[in-house]
Amino acid sequence: MKTRCDWHIHSRHSTGCGDKQATLELIVEQARAAGLRSFGVTDHLHTKFCEPHLLACRAEYDAMSDKEGFHFGIEVSVLREYDHQQEEPRSKTAEPCDDWADKKLVLRLPRQLLEQLRPEYIIGAAHWSLGAPFQRDAIIRSYHRQNMFLATHSQVDIVAHPWWWGGGGVGQWQNADGNYHTLPWLDDFSVIPKSMHDEFAAAAIEHSTAIEINAKGLLLNPRYPESFRRQYLEYLADLKAAGVRFSIASDSHYPGYDGSLLCRIEAYLDQLGLREEDIWQPGERKKEVPVE
Ligand SMILES: [Zn+2]
Ligand SMILES: [Zn+2]
Repeated sequence: MKTRCDWHIHSRHSTGCGDKQATLELIVEQARAAGLRSFGVTDHLHTKFCEPHLLACRAEYDAMSDKEGFHFGIEVSVLREYDHQQEEPRSKTAEPCDDWADKKLVLRLPRQLLEQLRPEYIIGAAHWSLGAPFQRDAIIRSYHRQNMFLATHSQVDIVAHPWWWGGGGVGQWQNADGNYHTLPWLDDFSVIPKSMHDEFAAAAIEHSTAIEINAKGLLLNPRYPESFRRQYLEYLADLKAAGVRFSIASDSHYPGYDGSLLCRIEAYLDQLGLREEDIWQPGERKKEVPVE
């Protein structure tokens, strides 16, 4: 399937990971050249630290004269309650704590900020281990808990890159060559109980939350082993069989827009039997969104 949409793109306003040359104009120009018809920018909203950058992104978006097919979204991160006020860009994840599983999970989405940003859609992701000890079972439980929190959240339209692993915030289980080939699930994705996938799919369907198929971070991640890719595709096939709605995402962090990412997953989308009508669109945005 040749995809015509992309709901996860980073601009220069994603602090720490966005490319400084990625203006919105350049993203739009290159995304259109790559054949996209509808797509959205989704810069990070981790903590308070990100807010001025997102406001600058919104101002740049508002000033554009040609926004045909181009939408404004944000990518929020799951945090522990006490983390979201901090001025640091990321959650303090390095220190595992015994009561991690009892800590309340939150997203930083203050009403005033949302009124200023007016996002057309919100994608949410687990980016950190959030205090879980670096042991396989605990990390699996933490990430499942975060994915369930997102799937059932009234303001989250799309759960971004489920089971992406980037070292839990501290590069845990990263080899000297930069790869992640072992724990927590990259050596064998079947260590995650099937019951967790079933519970996640059911929650996403019940709450009308789409689940993302992510090119750069998951299917094309050069730091992951080939065996993981095969198992992850089986996981996506099971989600499809369960009836979930998918969102397509390049997760481009590029000086402009990297049009090669979605091209390179077309064969995988065909393998899953996906059609254009199976893909989430902004018109499906959750209605009556309560603002905290
Ligand atoms: Zn992400
Ligand atoms: Zn992202």
